[in-house]
Amino acid sequence: MKALLTDICPLSTHDGPGLRTTVFFKGCPLRCIWCHNPETQQVFPETGWDRSKCIGCKSCEAACPHQAIDLHRAFPVDKTVCKNCGECVKGCPSSALFTMGKTWSVDELYNQLLKDEIFIKRSNGGVTFSGGEPAMQYRFIEALAIKLKRKKFHLALDTCGMAPKTAFKTVLPYMDLVLFDLKEMDERKHYGFTGVKNGQILKTLIFIHQNFPFLKIWIRTPVIPGMTGTEENIRSIGKFITANLSGQVEKWELCAFNNLCAAKYDRLGLTWSLRDTALLNRRQADQLLQEASLAACRACAVSFSGLTLPCPLT
Ligand code: SF4
Ligand code: SF4
Repeated sequence: MKALLTDICPLSTHDGPGLRTTVFFKGCPLRCIWCHNPETQQVFPETGWDRSKCIGCKSCEAACPHQAIDLHRAFPVDKTVCKNCGECVKGCPSSALFTMGKTWSVDELYNQLLKDEIFIKRSNGGVTFSGGEPAMQYRFIEALAIKLKRKKFHLALDTCGMAPKTAFKTVLPYMDLVLFDLKEMDERKHYGFTGVKNGQILKTLIFIHQNFPFLKIWIRTPVIPGMTGTEENIRSIGKFITANLSGQVEKWELCAFNNLCAAKYDRLGLTWSLRDTALLNRRQADQLLQEASLAACRACAVSFSGLTLPCPLT
């Protein structure tokens, strides 16, 4: 059994308790406008290009059997023609071309994760399955989690909630923590921001609460200026947590928008409409945090993370 991954990040401090190794699975059913990991959206390997590394040798044009490369274009790979065969990547002397997405077997990934075991265990950390939507590759996670649990690893699933119930039924018995992205309560806006309605996502959260009541849940809300970052949305999410997930949500984190991922879009030849969107300022962040604290009504610990601008002078 194989999984398609984009990255394995050791020593992460953001994806659960302690030091963690975060595994990024490739493939996601959502298309969030603000996505910080666009390389994880597609379910297949993709050919990327880093302009800063290209020495203009043109080896790639000759190497491509499908004539998909033209270095006169702003992004040289024509994605409508490219078969992601990797021939140009092999022929590129400066690693300017690369394939995003690599397949791993269960044993390969297990052995890789064991390399960090000492740091993970000493810090009471663990392994977090992230993405993309890791639950899309749930059979692989099940097989890996069985092996990791034998070694007593703390395991977390970082999910957007958009996967079949079978996926959650299969993997959650092995998890200690669920990091759940709850982005927008208004169904119409959710569809506009992510390309899917939020009905199934909310049902997944309630399903977890009803069927895995002892599993810890951390809710994460991306706070996007002019989109999800409104007091109304934060209030609605807080009310949902209080009304439907009583006592099970340990933390609710408001995650500030930033545009540090813009270069990832460039390297994949994608446009990104939020490239020049400003950060929230500290006052806006404090207001949202206060709103969240009131709405969650002491149901969980509320925090704000990420970059903010100083308050404008009045
Ligand atoms: S991945 Fe293959 S098809 Fe795509 S540009 Fe490179 S050589 Fe051509
Ligand atoms: S082979 Fe690599 S370095 Fe040479 S032109 Fe193509 S992308 Fe640039």
